[in-house]
Amino acid sequence: MRLIFGIILSIFSFSLHAQVNLSYYLPDTTALNPAITSPKEFLGFQIGEWHISHDQQTYYMKQLADESDRIIYEVRGHSHENRPMVNMIISHPDNLARLDEIKENHRQLSEIDGPKPDITDDQPIVVWQGYSIHGNEPSGANAAMLVAYYLAAGENDQILNILKNTVIIFYPSYNPDGMQRFSTWVNMNKSKTLNPDNQDREYDEVWPKGRTNHYGFDLNRDWLPLQQPESVSKIDLFQEWRPNVLTDHHEMGTNTTYFFQPGIPSRTNPMTPEINQQLTEEIGYFHAEALDSIGSLYYAKESYDDYFYGKGSTYPDIQGSIGILFEQASSRGHVQNSVHGEHTFPFTIRNQFVTSFSTLKAALHLKKDLLEYQRDFYRDQDFSTREGYIFGGKEAPYRTRELARILQHHEIKIFETEEDVKGNENEYAAGQSYFVPLGQRQQQLIRAIFEITEELPPDSLFYDVSAWTFPLAFNLPYEKMNAPGGLIEVTEKVSVTPVAFQRSEYAYVLPWTHYLAPKVLYRLLEKGVRVKVASQPFSYSGRDFDYGSLLIPLQNQDAGLIEDILQEAAAEGIESYPVHSSLTDQVNLGSRNFLSVTLPKVALIVGDGASAYSSAEPWHLLDTRYEIPVTRLEGNRLSSYNLDEYNVIVMSDSRILSYNKNELDRWIRRGGVIIASGSSGRWLSSQNIGSFDYKSLPVIDSTSATYEEMTDLYGARVTGGSIMKAYIDRSHPIAFGYTDEVLPVFKNNNFVFEPSKLRFRNPIVYAEDPLWSGYLHPVNAELFGGASALQIDAIGRGRVINFADNPNFRAFWYGTNRLFANALFFGRLINQR
Ligand SMILES: [Zn+2]
Repeated sequence: MRLIFGIILSIFSFSLHAQVNLSYYLPDTTALNPAITSPKEFLGFQIGEWHISHDQQTYYMKQLADESDRIIYEVRGHSHENRPMVNMIISHPDNLARLDEIKENHRQLSEIDGPKPDITDDQPIVVWQGYSIHGNEPSGANAAMLVAYYLAAGENDQILNILKNTVIIFYPSYNPDGMQRFSTWVNMNKSKTLNPDNQDREYDEVWPKGRTNHYGFDLNRDWLPLQQPESVSKIDLFQEWRPNVLTDHHEMGTNTTYFFQPGIPSRTNPMTPEINQQLTEEIGYFHAEALDSIGSLYYAKESYDDYFYGKGSTYPDIQGSIGILFEQASSRGHVQNSVHGEHTFPFTIRNQFVTSFSTLKAALHLKKDLLEYQRDFYRDQDFSTREGYIFGGKEAPYRTRELARILQHHEIKIFETEEDVKGNENEYAAGQSYFVPLGQRQQQLIRAIFEITEELPPDSLFYDVSAWTFPLAFNLPYEKMNAPGGLIEVTEKVSVTPVAFQRSEYAYVLPWTHYLAPKVLYRLLEKGVRVKVASQPFSYSGRDFDYGSLLIPLQNQDAGLIEDILQEAAAEGIESYPVHSSLTDQVNLGSRNFLSVTLPKVALIVGDGASAYSSAEPWHLLDTRYEIPVTRLEGNRLSSYNLDEYNVIVMSDSRILSYNKNELDRWIRRGGVIIASGSSGRWLSSQNIGSFDYKSLPVIDSTSATYEEMTDLYGARVTGGSIMKAYIDRSHPIAFGYTDEVLPVFKNNNFVFEPSKLRFRNPIVYAEDPLWSGYLHPVNAELFGGASALQIDAIGRGRVINFADNPNFRAFWYGTNRLFANALFFGRLINQR
């Protein structure tokens, strides 16, 4: 009776297309070590039946490591939400027993000193396998459970052969917070009777989706900028192990099939060697064979590219390694209708499982080629050059240090100079700048970080940004030069240099140049300290103070409190100066040219209608760097909030879906400030909230284009992410704190304004020849040239400050964050006449 019931149940289950058993995934279930707990034994359900959470994944991996002598479990860092960034070293126990020796030999291969090492037959290859950096692309992280299990429990020759010859760096989830968020969503919306209707809530996550990390960043753009904690520990591990192959398992649209690299050949970064793409293609044949064997459709070379080195599958390509992107058609939830029939979650997991093993098989077969490629990538470069890059500025200690920190994580050697260095363009103060010689191991990566992007792929189409020149993003003085004398290698991690605090009985002046000056200003205002900002330069006792310097008078204020705050600032390297008299030069401290600053109470528009990326960036900046609280308001019901709690509303690439126009108008007229950037200004214009003079885009002449040519024709007009040269008016409050009139700005849209005839209304203007680095269509170059990048409208006592561009892009555009901070603190002081 029980048997019959069992059979009925299994038929029933099969008809509900959910249940699969282990043999659906594993090619061989006959030789499995029973001492190793299977995912089903651990979870109480088979992989694919529910979406595993990051917690479940972590505990299972720990258990596997406890049971198996093939696995070392490590936690090198944590996500924003304090979830462990788990990685595992998987190999044959004999290899694990001499792991340090293997690592050292492997690292030696890509060193550049001494004789060229031979590659021996018993030398293992290092393969890095990583999953689901986008948390709502779950097939990878779920397949990782099975891959780890099979590697731990498999007893057949193929597995043993892989283990003997390979050190696997296994990263089961690149994005713990996103994975946790997404798995909760799909599981809580799962129906017992699975429903493949694409319109069901299960397949329609709420904002913000699980793709990004806690703060809304796309971790697959952060491999080079390293602004998120999830990236930092990962890159340290990458540099420690220098893998030969790195995989990055993703998902794409439900109606697609399966993609593996190579991507579009014409869009490979010109700095990536040809042989890299040849090896990628050779590895591809192994994926093809494996996917053929289980009847899955796939393609390569027709989408995605290897251009931006900040992506997981491209970062290795400039370091003698092979990065491989996989994209599986997503079932998103448990099963979804698609053009290929019912698309089940287990099916997506199986494809990722299969290509995980085809990667290992390929690495085994191509072991010698891959090891040789890595060795020669480094050995065959010319290291004789005396050239390098120098960067840094005494006005920018924080930004200088931050760039130095990033370089150190990428195993790039940096040097201090004994004496000040005079370059062709700038002076570089000893102790406040760094020299990066090109004659070192990471020469190619250094070029990828520092060089202006001039050589572009022929079709001018980019999957992501076309330029990321770091010293421009950080707005730092820099140049290429021959190595100066007296170089001292920086061997410790760079850290803050505290400055001395000098007490005053009368007043303090805090220059507005330090990157973290907004943090100090907020702290002062929040404690009720009165602070004024200088709208004119002045000098005192031989020291010049620029536009934007903060004046903190002690008259009628708590001197001890102010001292505490400024002392704390000094410990973080932020200088303030004691002033003992109002009798300063140019303007006196009691002058009307010192304007009172108001405490910003910040609301940020989020939720439906807002870009999950752009609207997260101000939150991250204000919260983690300036330590300013931000209240996030849902733009689909703005009228339900009491706006009088705030005096600043931030809109970054967002629209407000539901609001009361009269209420918002009243709020602005009474002194409210809206800071808009990117597409938000367009929306505000459409609602008659402020009036802005956008330049209209030239019409694209497509009369003679064929259907096939049409996509490229329109695509080439897209400004996907390039660096423009702009000029700023340093006397304007929006530009306070900048020491140079030239400012590199990041641009990833075609919004620009007609410049006002009144010069003082154009505080940021693109250069006549605006392109600095990256790609720009000539028609757009003409459109941008001389145009205004900012317009401000005064409405009553309020202001609408409209940036054409996003000043907070991906948390690594340090150079323009100050524009945003100025709008925040000084926006309401801007006089529009
Ligand atoms: Zn993805």
